[in-house]
Amino acid sequence: TFIADVKTLTNKPIKYVVDTHYHYDHAFGNQVFGPDVTIIGHDTTRRRLNGPGSLKERTYLTNGTGAIATRFTMLKRQISEATDAQQRAILERQLAIHQQYADEQAKIRPTPPNATLSRDMTLVRGTREIQIRFFGRAHTDGDIVVFLPKERMVATGDMITSALSYTGDAFVEEWPATLEGVLSLDFDTVLPGHGSVFKGKDHIRNLQAYWRDFYQQATSLRKQGVSPEEAAKRIDLTKHAGAIPAAKTPGVDVRGVDRIYDLAANPNAPVR
Ligand SMILES: [Zn+2]
Repeated sequence: TFIADVKTLTNKPIKYVVDTHYHYDHAFGNQVFGPDVTIIGHDTTRRRLNGPGSLKERTYLTNGTGAIATRFTMLKRQISEATDAQQRAILERQLAIHQQYADEQAKIRPTPPNATLSRDMTLVRGTREIQIRFFGRAHTDGDIVVFLPKERMVATGDMITSALSYTGDAFVEEWPATLEGVLSLDFDTVLPGHGSVFKGKDHIRNLQAYWRDFYQQATSLRKQGVSPEEAAKRIDLTKHAGAIPAAKTPGVDVRGVDRIYDLAANPNAPVR
């Protein structure tokens, strides 16, 4: 589907793919491009996708396969309870889409990047300069951005999204500093990892404040001996809701708190 979508934009062949990070919803389709396509990613993205290990981690199990299993159960129950024929037809269609997605998931073969970088890489193709930059760890340990200086545009992956990114294998403490690196680029337009394209730098500054606050609250609760489950309920980031609507209810994802606790105990803690 992705390849078909690209064909609606250009008749040129796909020769390069950039994995902004290793997560399943960004990089688990690498195998469809074939061996002649250059797949660019950070060294750590290659390491994480080299072998089937990432299929057994919490990130994939609780968002990928696990999430779809939960949705299957929910949809089947809703279909059995539906009294309205039209409503049932809508639900059955959703179930079919989920089935299709599950079938595709079964075909996943984690395929690592075949060209890696640890810091920066620049491609000059025709009149276009394409900078691939690593500013540090944030949403994962391999977040890279694609910056087009002439077009004044940056594609960021999930270190920047319209809403709030998954934190289960993040480096929340380092996230604001990494965003500072992105802010040093000269751009007008941001293509985030999820959500709508946006203009300017304000949203990124708001995210910096949010992640700083998240980290400080989690760390302070940890020092008080509060469990991750309890801390996840108590952390209150609703003061950021004006700028980031996804923050409007108190409490955060316990997987992010687990991660902060894990890293506080061991800076090299593996992802769960
Ligand atoms: Zn991600």
